[in-house]
Amino acid sequence: MSDEPQETGNSPNHGVLYVVATPIGNLEDMTLRALRVLGEVDLIAAEGVEHTRRLCRRYEIGTRLISYNQNNRRRKEPGLLEKLRSGRKVALVTNAGTPGISDPGTLLIRRALDERIRVEAVPGPCAAVAALSVSGLRSDGFLFAGFLPSRSGRRRKEIEPLVPEPRTLVFYEAPHRIRAMLEDLRDVLGDREAVIAREMTKIHEEILRGTLGELAELVGDGRARGEFTVMVEGASGGTSGDVPETELRERIKELLGREDMSLRDVAEKLALEQGLGYRHIYKVCLEIQDSLKTR
Ligand code: SAM
Repeated sequence: MSDEPQETGNSPNHGVLYVVATPIGNLEDMTLRALRVLGEVDLIAAEGVEHTRRLCRRYEIGTRLISYNQNNRRRKEPGLLEKLRSGRKVALVTNAGTPGISDPGTLLIRRALDERIRVEAVPGPCAAVAALSVSGLRSDGFLFAGFLPSRSGRRRKEIEPLVPEPRTLVFYEAPHRIRAMLEDLRDVLGDREAVIAREMTKIHEEILRGTLGELAELVGDGRARGEFTVMVEGASGGTSGDVPETELRERIKELLGREDMSLRDVAEKLALEQGLGYRHIYKVCLEIQDSLKTR
């Protein structure tokens, strides 16, 4: 293959393990490079063979597929590593999104790296990143927490240390647990602003916004089907922690004093400028405007 980066330290006789991202719904979300790599490798190691076969059929890719998933990975790894050692090229894919991100792959990647086999990313869809990109929540820094434990007690314990975290929190969740999970988040974090990205890139895609309590009600209302990514604003309304509150208030006053800016303009500008939650900043703007009026 052409235009491949060369990394010193990798054994030249070894093959390459390509970590290939695939669509999280819409099959058009395949990159040209992903298509080329899947067509050119000797073997595709797929989480779900039937699932990936459909994708390959759609793009007329005839590469051999083998199963590699959470249940058989220990059994499959020696054979895959042997192929890579003998110079073969293998693509690793999962059912949706980027392998290794709350998905199988990490162990095989680790072993390949230990053996100085080149591992190359073929980037593409990832539900967490796609969801954040349309959330309107602070995304210059975020904490990806993946799946929380399925039992409420353990789940709450895992949420507790996240209470003071100022960055946006991102979770994956299964439909049958979504409501209970949102209720636990609300009880432990407080009724913060949150966004749910449901069925992204699919026919029934929707982005739901509200407080955790409101969203728990909504998904309890017959919407608990499909795939969900949950994002919650960080502590203090997603403030980055490095913008002192007094400085922020001074800036709001200054902007509210301008004739060409409405309260909404000010809140939008500062939310973008400072990476703050819009709703939080809007509330602060309102408070300040009221206090200025009553003077
Ligand atoms: N590796 C994948 C990635 O890069 O996004 C994630 C795999 S994880 C096993 C599956 C979880 O991702 C789902 O339970 C859901 O939380 C989230 N997810 C996957 N597809 C989604 C979609 N179309 N819309 C919203 N969330 C999705």
